[in-house]
Amino acid sequence: MKFGGTSMAGTERIRRVAGIVRRQQAAGHEVAVVVSAMAGETDRLVNFCREANALYDPAEYDVVVAAGEQITSGLLALTLQAMGCKARSWLGWQLPVRTDDAHAKARIETIDSDGLIASMKSGEIAVIPGFQGLSPDGRVTTLGRGGSDTSAVAVAAAVQADRCDIYTDVDGVYTTDPRIVAKARKLKYVTYEEMLELASVGSKVLQTRSVGLAMKERVRVQVLSSFIDDDAPPADDLPGTMIVSDEELEGLEMESQLITGIAADKNEAKVTLTRVADRPGAVATIFGPLAAANINVDMIIQNVAKDKGETDVTFTVTRADLARTQALLEGQKEAIGYFRMICDSKVAKISVVGVGMRSHAGVAATMFRALAERGINIQAISTSEIKTSVLIDEDETELAVRVLHTAYGMDAE
Ligand code: ADP
Ligand code: ASP
Ligand code: MG
Repeated sequence: MKFGGTSMAGTERIRRVAGIVRRQQAAGHEVAVVVSAMAGETDRLVNFCREANALYDPAEYDVVVAAGEQITSGLLALTLQAMGCKARSWLGWQLPVRTDDAHAKARIETIDSDGLIASMKSGEIAVIPGFQGLSPDGRVTTLGRGGSDTSAVAVAAAVQADRCDIYTDVDGVYTTDPRIVAKARKLKYVTYEEMLELASVGSKVLQTRSVGLAMKERVRVQVLSSFIDDDAPPADDLPGTMIVSDEELEGLEMESQLITGIAADKNEAKVTLTRVADRPGAVATIFGPLAAANINVDMIIQNVAKDKGETDVTFTVTRADLARTQALLEGQKEAIGYFRMICDSKVAKISVVGVGMRSHAGVAATMFRALAERGINIQAISTSEIKTSVLIDEDETELAVRVLHTAYGMDAE
């Protein structure tokens, strides 16, 4: 069972969580619980780091930001004990959750689960702070923002859990963020692949890495709400959204949906280089240095050459990487031979995702037409097998998501 930040925000909320955990145990399950820091706490800790040292050392950043989960794990264990349950906390370095040494975005390598399993078998509830791990040289690491989801899936895989229940502040995965579109519909099932795409294009309900790990380790994941009454049906009756494999879904769905979900991402920035020479190798001189600096490029457009054999190249990077991208490309101006660099971070990427796209034509056309009818201009397009994304003006994000939700016939009654 994993509980996110809103579910853990304060002692009163933690008491509700303890009640849900106790009920699962009373139903005969052995449970391990992974918790997030209280809502807002990690942001607060990140700000302290920035104030202390703008160019902070990621290893010390991890020492600071991992603290939020230490507090909530201890508090949940105390609350469970107050209810008469046996419970103890297992910090990341105690289990340990071994990771690589990529501080602030570490990857889990192994979890030693022997002690954990023995304690669970003895009837003790294990409470594990999410987000934190231990580097090969014995230092605290964190897994990147939203990383408690990944901790939970990794623990579930390590103890070979029957299921990994991700409790959050919405009661499942919706066709789009229910806080933006009131007509969003809850999905009973979503495939690993679709969830992976949705997470990677901006549905923050699950961290992308947690979905990739669940797919690889075949962990059954359910997303459900912790904001429930004491008489709510138990989690075993599947009141949330189950993440399933393609094969499982085929056996479940009456009629398959063309589009599963829509996501928006305001985390990207657009860069245009004008009048780049239209010759072999020109594009390599742009993206080579970016790759060497570990900057990920997402969408790319190269126009056909106009007169004089010159063309404009447009691409997107994350907003966090924009300043570095600008500095790098200014330094390479001679070598690349462009005329001007134009940057715009007031953009949003809107993506529609669905396995139905594999077998149906016209999904992208519907998207372009619906946006055009509302006067929304498309600045860039990219596609994959089960996803189509467009880049638009940031101010039109909510409108675009709503318009597309209607255009694909996904609105709830
Ligand atoms: P937690 O603190 O529990 O990890 P998050 O804030 O990380 O919770 O994720 C839950 C939020 O994800 C919801 O409040 C919702 O606004 C947002 N969200 C975005 N896209 C979706 C979606 N397709 N379905 C459900 N929630 C979504
Ligand atoms: N507390 C961490 C964060 O806010 C991890 C998590 O909640 O998943 O990013
Ligand atoms: Mg989260």
